[in-house]
Amino acid sequence: MYPRLIINAKKIAHNIDYITKLCHQKDISVMGVTKAICAHPDIIEIFENSRLDYIADSRLENLMYPSKKMKVLLRVSMPSEARMVVNYTDISLQSSLETIKILQKAAFLQKKKHAIILMFDIGDLREGLYYTHHYMQIVEKIMSFNNIDLVGIGTNLTCYGGVLPTPEIMKRLSDIAKAIEEKFAFKLQIISGGNSSSFEMLRKEELVGINNLRFGELIFLGRETAYSNDVEELYQDAFTLEAEVIEHALKPSVPDGQLGVNAFGEKVVFEDKGLIHRMILGIGRQEVRSDDIVPLDNDLEIIGSSSDHLLVNDLLNKYKVGDIISFKLSYGGLLGATTSKYVKKELVYE
Ligand SMILES: *Cc1c(COP(=O)(O)O)cnc(C)c1O
Repeated sequence: MYPRLIINAKKIAHNIDYITKLCHQKDISVMGVTKAICAHPDIIEIFENSRLDYIADSRLENLMYPSKKMKVLLRVSMPSEARMVVNYTDISLQSSLETIKILQKAAFLQKKKHAIILMFDIGDLREGLYYTHHYMQIVEKIMSFNNIDLVGIGTNLTCYGGVLPTPEIMKRLSDIAKAIEEKFAFKLQIISGGNSSSFEMLRKEELVGINNLRFGELIFLGRETAYSNDVEELYQDAFTLEAEVIEHALKPSVPDGQLGVNAFGEKVVFEDKGLIHRMILGIGRQEVRSDDIVPLDNDLEIIGSSSDHLLVNDLLNKYKVGDIISFKLSYGGLLGATTSKYVKKELVYE
């Protein structure tokens, strides 16, 4: 059945292996982030059997399995899910005292200790206490909670604001770590310096005062995200999306008639290329956005898509109805394809 996503387990295992070895050599622990693959059980299995130190996801629903590893909730939790956070995860990322108070109560009631990583916003304007604000009173309050264990601090970069990780920016985080450690005379287990965008700094030996990183895209697509460079030692093609040709016809490249807007309320501009070999594939926006996928065959050109159809220009007229077309995916494409129940997932081990 198509469309389907072919997932190469060996390539993912290789990527994890390479990344974790490199990080461990530099005394950096690694969280493997599973949200882009919707916590697919067979891929979780690869994570479980790897050297990864933690398994992390931004959604609680993706962390509800028994694990050998520490499970980390990445998205700052909703107060309404506090009980489940304590129940299903070992560590959560937090940034609001209100929520941490509710977690304290939930942990007390479950007779548990819940570990948190306090997030700091060091300029990217996503989650976290703003680094120039007075955060020490908040830390002091957290330290007073009996069922909350402050195990670390962390930050997120190149996510919302696109702030690049540099030594100056990262020093904002390590300075906070030092200040907290000095004031309370204890060592933070985790100083988490970001996601796949921090890999370049790691390679350049520029990550000072940081001892943890959280990787998703780097593991799955072999790409660091600060400068969008492929990492040579990693596989970029662990995932391939396949879709089937359902129509193949020679038709004009420009619609024939008065033009309004399309099904999505968009006004589309057409370039007149005369007659072209237009293929329709059985995959649409309900599965994946057309600009998140790229055909492996360079002689194919994506024209556009509707809810159910992907339109492709078969430049050399090579294909016919029933043929299967393969695509590589961006991170967004991977998210879409793994989240869609209409895309069958197939693991291969070679
Ligand atoms: C998604 C996410 C990550 C992983 O990001 P990648 O760019 O895929 O490495 C790390 N940290 C947090 C908080 C996230 O939400």
